[in-house]
Amino acid sequence: MNLNRKITLLLAAVALGILVTLAIISLYAFRSFSISSSTAHVRTAAEMVRVHLTEAMIHGVIDKREQFLDRLREVQGLRSARVIRSEHVDQQYGAGMAQEAPANDTERQVLIDGQARYLLSDNGSDTVFRGTIPFAATAHGSPNCLQCHQVPEGTVLGAVTIELSLAEIKRQAFLAIASILLTVVAISLAALWLARRIILPVGNTAQAVEKTVQRALRGDFKGRLEQRTDDEIGKIAAQTNQLLGFLDEGLSRISQRVIQLTGRNPKQDENQLEATIDMVNGLADASAFKQAIEEDENKREIYDRFGKVLVERFGVSEFSIYETEGAKLMVPIMVDGIPGGDCRWCDQQILARSEMCRARRTGHPVDGLISPEICYAFHPPGDAGESRRHYCVPIIQSGSVGSVIQLVAPASRAEALAELVPYVHVYLREMAPVLEAKRLNETLRESALRDAMTGLSNRRFLEEYVDTLIANARRRKTPLAVLMLDLDYFKVVNDTHGHDAGDALLKAVAGVLKQSVRASDMVIRFGGEEFLIVLQDADEAAAMKVAENIRVAVAALKVQINGHVLQKTISIGVGMLADDSNTFWQTVKFADVALYRAKDSGRNRVVCFSPEMWTGQDETY
Ligand code: GH3
Ligand code: MG
Ligand code: MG
Repeated sequence: MNLNRKITLLLAAVALGILVTLAIISLYAFRSFSISSSTAHVRTAAEMVRVHLTEAMIHGVIDKREQFLDRLREVQGLRSARVIRSEHVDQQYGAGMAQEAPANDTERQVLIDGQARYLLSDNGSDTVFRGTIPFAATAHGSPNCLQCHQVPEGTVLGAVTIELSLAEIKRQAFLAIASILLTVVAISLAALWLARRIILPVGNTAQAVEKTVQRALRGDFKGRLEQRTDDEIGKIAAQTNQLLGFLDEGLSRISQRVIQLTGRNPKQDENQLEATIDMVNGLADASAFKQAIEEDENKREIYDRFGKVLVERFGVSEFSIYETEGAKLMVPIMVDGIPGGDCRWCDQQILARSEMCRARRTGHPVDGLISPEICYAFHPPGDAGESRRHYCVPIIQSGSVGSVIQLVAPASRAEALAELVPYVHVYLREMAPVLEAKRLNETLRESALRDAMTGLSNRRFLEEYVDTLIANARRRKTPLAVLMLDLDYFKVVNDTHGHDAGDALLKAVAGVLKQSVRASDMVIRFGGEEFLIVLQDADEAAAMKVAENIRVAVAALKVQINGHVLQKTISIGVGMLADDSNTFWQTVKFADVALYRAKDSGRNRVVCFSPEMWTGQDETY
């Protein structure tokens, strides 16, 4: 029920209440007034009858009583008057007159107890008030009743019954009450009309506010209120319009900006405010994501984080992240949230022939949500159940496709996935430059720690990883051996066959060294033609054995250059890091001392460091 109707009904109810109350009070007052005034009239008339009868008795004309009563009945409003004698009078003076009617029940009661009785009755055509008043014998009045009547004082001698017609009084009262009520009705109607005139704009404005607020709750701030008056209500309408205008303009500016940033276009029937909040949240999350991945150590961590976003924020559990490697290869980085993983949603051949991947080949997003058949390489497994749709986005790094993100969804969820795509793009936009930076970083780092010619790690790498290496050896309480290697008479190769030949030989030797040790061991190009090998978990005997194998393998190595066969030997010094007091670099030095001894004692041999060598070589090192 609206406000106008409520207030009108309330006022009408109040008016009706007043009217009914007034009518009841008036009727009650009229009744009380009529009864008390009729009682007084009856008493007066009865007194007059008594006086007249007394006078008639004194003057001996009591037999004229009926004529008197007949005349009395002619008085307007007085319907009847009759006198009843008590048995005391009858006993003293004999029975009354023949035409005298016998006393009725009420009159008999009055004669017995001397109490006046009154009765209001309605006989349809007239309302009658009847009063029966006793006449009691008194010794004090003039004349003294007891002079004639031989009864004790107070004895009821008779009674008079007077009937008054209230028709006229009733008519008058009815007219009075009716005019009062009519006046009240008229005043109420006027008040109602006035109140409605005042309330109507309030109610209408309230209704308009309600509708406009409901529109605003649906994200539409275009509703406006009609300003009907110049009072406070009018001001409310004007100021509400101002506020709505402000919100509308603000919202459309914000949403235009976020639409630009997210590339998501809210639908016509969508709540624009909620859509904008959604987009702003998406942007804020993506920005937090960017901050997080910038601090990630490497690309793998970034992909892991992105995988989590797909699963936890977007609820996408089926997806693939591929990284391209060279011109041909694609490597699965994460599939369905599992790091590494198998190529699940595409033809396996894309791994070896990356151009089969449409996103990789074209460098454009591939929308298999709208056109399911767009990519032939999309190949969901037969046991996947409901048919699948896909959306693939390439991430461009250094001008070419560095990775491909593939989102997969059952056909029934394709539409929901399509709604997420703009947000996924926002994340990928944030992710691409960071991935690029990490990739460059990794390449740079790689080149800084690797020797370009032999492909072996360099001395800097050793410097960076030595602490980890030692910590591992100490924790596992395993011995660690350092081999220092130097080719014998290498200078001759350069001098005889040229520097390139020397390089080729160095590369070949590096290959032999790499093959002679375990993957966990470390082969470092330490200097020009000097190498350093760190053997993990190797005691002296094992280290000597490995060193000897290397020596034999190098000696057996034949490298063909410019029609010449080059064959060189190598000298190796071995140092052990078995004692806690030894630092790694000290061990390196011991190995070097041993190498020196190997060179000194004829070359092409392996020498293990022993403490006496140190004193002997003290001045040299
Ligand atoms: P030895 O060690 O047996 O005492 O004799 P050596 O001739 O090998 O002497 P040394 O170890 O001092 O020789 C180092 C030579 O290695 C000097 C340099 O010409 C050569 N050399 C160092 N680095 C390279 C390199 O990268 N390429 C080539 N081709 N030669 C290098
Ligand atoms: Mg040397
Ligand atoms: Mg040498």
